[in-house]
Amino acid sequence: MSRHRVQRVCVYCGSSAGRREAYGEAAERFGAALAAAGIGLVYGGGGTGMMGRVAAAVTSAGGEATGIIPRHLVERERADASAPGMHVVGSMHERKALMADLADAFVALPGGLGTVEELFEVLTWSQLGMHSKPCGALNVCGYFDWLEAFLERAVGEGFMRSEHRGLLLLEPDPERLIERLCASGD
Ligand code: AMP
Repeated sequence: MSRHRVQRVCVYCGSSAGRREAYGEAAERFGAALAAAGIGLVYGGGGTGMMGRVAAAVTSAGGEATGIIPRHLVERERADASAPGMHVVGSMHERKALMADLADAFVALPGGLGTVEELFEVLTWSQLGMHSKPCGALNVCGYFDWLEAFLERAVGEGFMRSEHRGLLLLEPDPERLIERLCASGD
């Protein structure tokens, strides 16, 4: 399958900020690193938590942020529907489809069920050969250690093929994660 340069990264992350300031700081570092690399952000469009922090960091560093928010979540997730780059869509399904279409790579930052659901969807679609865009997770404070353990267990127990173990790039450092995504997107 052909690959192309990573121009936009889709970030899945918490609508909450988490208890430790390290999470929000990592979201800001990741956003600033995207902007510095000339890579645009595609995100869920919310203004709260990790989502709000990563998007604000991108735009304040002069980068491009594209938010995709379902109409029914505009208020709840405090989206600025009139902000440049904001798309208001009709459903959660439309949101996910547009986010996936617009991006050349996917990254999860710490978050809850919504974050994990979105990450697993793009990983499973990659496993099925439905796309070949690189997928990663920013392992802030070891938050995603369980994910690594899960993948190893799934391979070890014969529920996942070992060649699929490498579908997820797990990395604690924002700049390094972006480099690795770009290298595997070449
Ligand atoms: P969370 O990680 O639970 O804070 O959720 C992060 C984001 O994922 C929020 O913007 C949610 O609206 C979104 N989300 C939650 N559940 C889903 C889902 N099933 N599909 C797509 N997005 C979701």
